[in-house]
Amino acid sequence: MLYKIEKAIIHDSYHKTLFFSCEKCKDAKPGQFVMVWIPSIDEIPMSLSHIGEKQAITVKKVGEATEALYKMEEGDKIGIRGPYGKGFVEKGKKALFVAGGIGIAALLPLIKKYDGEKHVILAARTKSMLLFEDEIKEIAKLNVATDDGSHGFKGFATDLMKELLKKEDFNIVYTCGPEIMMKKVFDICKENGIDMQASLERYMKCGIGICDSCTINGYRVCKDGPVFDFATLSKMPDFGKWKRNEAGKKIPI
Ligand SMILES: Cc1cc2nc3c(=O)[nH]c(=O)nc-3n(C[C@H](O)[C@H](O)[C@H](O)COP(=O)(O)OP(=O)(O)OC[C@H]3O[C@@H](n4cnc5c(N)ncnc54)[C@H](O)[C@@H]3O)c2cc1C
Repeated sequence: MLYKIEKAIIHDSYHKTLFFSCEKCKDAKPGQFVMVWIPSIDEIPMSLSHIGEKQAITVKKVGEATEALYKMEEGDKIGIRGPYGKGFVEKGKKALFVAGGIGIAALLPLIKKYDGEKHVILAARTKSMLLFEDEIKEIAKLNVATDDGSHGFKGFATDLMKELLKKEDFNIVYTCGPEIMMKKVFDICKENGIDMQASLERYMKCGIGICDSCTINGYRVCKDGPVFDFATLSKMPDFGKWKRNEAGKKIPI
């Protein structure tokens, strides 16, 4: 189905949020994704960054398809299939959300919905690349980290997470972002005995469990994930180490 872009928000020269109204996406679960078709270019997986009466995707420009999406304006049309995949499962009464870069897109609907105490680590390379900071400040305890120290804590999300764990206890950690970061979050949770869930990214073609492009150690990211829990991640030796390119060849992360 083709949907009209009803609103477009430019965050910076890399990130843009596109709003549309898709009946089937209204009741999507936080962490689910849609396959977005950019006519004449490609079809790519994108998390729903806003769920409700209107839905949205938040895109980071990294290549041909995302660059074309970034250029889209109000009134342009995109194709949407989905929502697909297994989203986050709400657990516990006190949660920590660790978002690196565009990873906040998958976590934002859960931060809004989570019924309990919520702390967020929002991390990016530099201040101008922090997304949804004002929105999150209103609904959660926000901790900001930038690699260059231009805003908040100077260092990686995981360094700030270690600091936070010295003074706070959490029932659950939810994470999305670069896989190296998520693997570190997993290791910290393991050391501290904290439950966790992570949303993984792999190269996807069909998005519905048929083509096997997105497989990781026998798990299909599109159908069995993209959100995996601690126990399942523990059974993935490739997590944080290997992914597959568009030809299916295993390449280091
Ligand atoms: C479940 C899921 C949810 C996603 N949600 C979002 C989102 O909310 N916002 C967003 O901006 N992006 C998201 N992505 C990543 C997005 O799909 C890719 O960035 C996009 O497919 C790249 O297409 P391209 O043509 O622009 O770049 P390409 O020219 O195909 O690739 C450019 C670079 O991006 C890398 N790349 C390609 N595909 C992926 C991928 N699936 N994951 C990581 N790196 C990739 C390539 O290795 C290459 O280095 C998500 C991916 C998945 C699997």
